[in-house]
Amino acid sequence: MHLSFISTRGQAGLDAPSVTAEVHLSAGLPAFQVVGLGDSSSREIRSRVRAALISSHLKWPDFNITVNLTPAERVTRDTRFDLPIAMGLLVASQQLPRNAIEGREFIGELGLDGCLKPNRGALAAVLAAARAGNTLCLAREGAPQLANVKGCRLIAAPDLLSLCAALKAADPQFVNPLSACPADTYDYPDLSQIRGQPLLYRALELAAAGGHHLLMSGSPGVGKTLAASVLPGLLPPLEPAAQQEVWLIRDLAGLSRANGPTFRAPHHSSSIAALMGGTARALPGEISMAHGGVLFLDELTEFPRAVLNQLRQPLETGEITVSRAEHQHRYPARFQLVAAMNPCPCGLADNEDGSCRCSPDMIRRYRQGASGPLMDRIDLHVKLSKPSPEALLSAAPQGNSSARLRERVAKARERQLSRQHCLNRDLAGDDIVEACALKSTTREGLLKALTALSLSARSAHRRLRVARTLADMTGEERVSMLHINTALSFRDAPTGLEQRDFSDCRQP
Ligand SMILES: [Zn+2]
Repeated sequence: MHLSFISTRGQAGLDAPSVTAEVHLSAGLPAFQVVGLGDSSSREIRSRVRAALISSHLKWPDFNITVNLTPAERVTRDTRFDLPIAMGLLVASQQLPRNAIEGREFIGELGLDGCLKPNRGALAAVLAAARAGNTLCLAREGAPQLANVKGCRLIAAPDLLSLCAALKAADPQFVNPLSACPADTYDYPDLSQIRGQPLLYRALELAAAGGHHLLMSGSPGVGKTLAASVLPGLLPPLEPAAQQEVWLIRDLAGLSRANGPTFRAPHHSSSIAALMGGTARALPGEISMAHGGVLFLDELTEFPRAVLNQLRQPLETGEITVSRAEHQHRYPARFQLVAAMNPCPCGLADNEDGSCRCSPDMIRRYRQGASGPLMDRIDLHVKLSKPSPEALLSAAPQGNSSARLRERVAKARERQLSRQHCLNRDLAGDDIVEACALKSTTREGLLKALTALSLSARSAHRRLRVARTLADMTGEERVSMLHINTALSFRDAPTGLEQRDFSDCRQP
């Protein structure tokens, strides 16, 4: 029988669903067609597989060859099906015994010289094959790292001929996993590099502890970018499930595996597809690559409004659905947003020398660039001013290292998770009031402050979430008036309110 069935894996989001490559050889004029992939992809696969077989001194079957990849909806236009098709040809033409493919799956791209090349998304295939109890055969490059997946069995080879030899062996060699996973790499700037910015220091602490999104406004050079890149170093290590999602996303995006929270800073000229995910194969975008870490949007108002509006859904749900003509995939995107903007178009409005020539109207239009609903999801707004020259030249403060703060942040996060099973950032209206456990006197003081500042319910909740995090930092059960007053001191930067005195709201 000139027919063979080879198991392989497609790609759907972070999943690798099972696909079968059916190869049929029939008498007739020699021909080779791959059904269901479209002309150009089919022609490319044909050329690569043929050249690889001939270069490997294997016999090209002189038959009318039909290859069918099924089910069709799981098939991506991808080079990952080269190897399964080549294996199907070898089995159908009896150059490889049928028992060589039993209980085994195949994935990989073939070079014209018969070498095997690694594929993006191989990690998802390894996980899926391990769950199915199958052995996965793939390229040797990168295989030891993939072999760290629990319960997987991998056979890796540098080229097609070596793989055939390994498959025929009575007792094939499985890939040994790397002896140790890479240690957590926290190579972000240290917190101690921030000098003379007590408000910023506090904001970073709170952002890390409560998972709050952060908006910084200030002149160029006040250290907004430095502050944003400090934040991932303050976050505790990821939970195993989230870490695995991060690895899967990085693998799909062709990035190396890295432990710990990631930091992504896309430029404001990036396309929607690059940020949200897309391209022809519906691959993850920047917001998914920031999953479990920090997404930094510098010059927030320069981002097109359409892009900022699209951020609202992932900020709320922690995931994004990427739709393209043939595919619709869901990717996780639970990131912490850090945004930065200048006080005015020229960036000099905060200078006291009057060098800013922007009119109030220009400033208002500039600030409106950041959409209101997005602002509503940012709990912490800080207005930064230039640190004094003395502060910049002073010695590094003692005891303010990222590593030390990270420990306190981890404790504060534990308190939140054990109380409400989510971070304070994700607390909705009623839940936040309940979580604050306000005393009646504090409640009265809060009402007084809210009336004095004429704050909306939405912004009141925002301040309460921050106050709750302040209490969690010190391990207090109830939110006190002191916490509320500190939370109130984080001004809405875009509205440009001046600092007010809250002493009249303070409880004795
Ligand atoms: Zn200006």
